[in-house]
Amino acid sequence: MTRYIFFYFITIFSVNSLASDLQINGKLEQGGLAYGWVPKDTSLSLGVTEIDISPEGYFIFGISRNSPSTLELKVTKNKIVSKKIINIKKRDWIIERINGLPSNTVSPDNKTLKRIRNEGALISQRRKISASSIYFKNGFILPSEGRVSGVFGSQRVLNGKPRSPHSGLDLAAPIGTKVIATADGIVSLVHKDMILTGKTVMIDHGFGLQSIYIHLNDIFVKEGELVKQGQLIAEIGVTGRTSGPHLHFGITWYGVKLDPQSVLKVLPIKDVIN
Ligand SMILES: [Zn+2]
Repeated sequence: MTRYIFFYFITIFSVNSLASDLQINGKLEQGGLAYGWVPKDTSLSLGVTEIDISPEGYFIFGISRNSPSTLELKVTKNKIVSKKIINIKKRDWIIERINGLPSNTVSPDNKTLKRIRNEGALISQRRKISASSIYFKNGFILPSEGRVSGVFGSQRVLNGKPRSPHSGLDLAAPIGTKVIATADGIVSLVHKDMILTGKTVMIDHGFGLQSIYIHLNDIFVKEGELVKQGQLIAEIGVTGRTSGPHLHFGITWYGVKLDPQSVLKVLPIKDVIN
């Protein structure tokens, strides 16, 4: 009996220390990016999603626009499982009304709809695969100059019809304005003609993080190419579903769409990892 109580005590003690060994930083809000560390040989999962951990114990995860106010991280080490509850800040989203869009992109016919679905599937498929290198050590920078003409998360009403929330940041500037890479990474998609996104580039920054640049004019990179933060990759254009020249800039963690303005506030992590 004494032995049993002792074992029980040790287990409880271990479970508590396991969760407290976990350090989490970043922006713990809807649309935000979290990062942190765990001791060696620890595994982590968020719901059914297994989280990648670097050899040094570093990890990141994205928080969706509609995240509940608490998330539960499952922490496993030496077969001992503990849970850590993370509080997520809720945000208010604005309603944006946009008119004057080409009608075939807002209410597409069947043929166009099929293309939109296939193109969306291609983007989703590329987002599932990500490098195991941490290319984003220097943090993220704005990919273009321009006036903020649309923010992440807003509820959109296009030509009077309610549509999905806006998934990125819009920067309005004249056609030909430079677009640069937000962080180092490998170009994961170049497409010259998508119905909704027009000329499109995606960059894989590793650990599930990817950026997307859409409605482009000219594109200066190829799939598979390594790009550096600040490198010229394209020009702002007016291709795809848009009512005027602007860059739509998005950041995702696997399939989870994140708020670029929130991710940009996550400090460079080069000083805390190797
Ligand atoms: Zn946009």
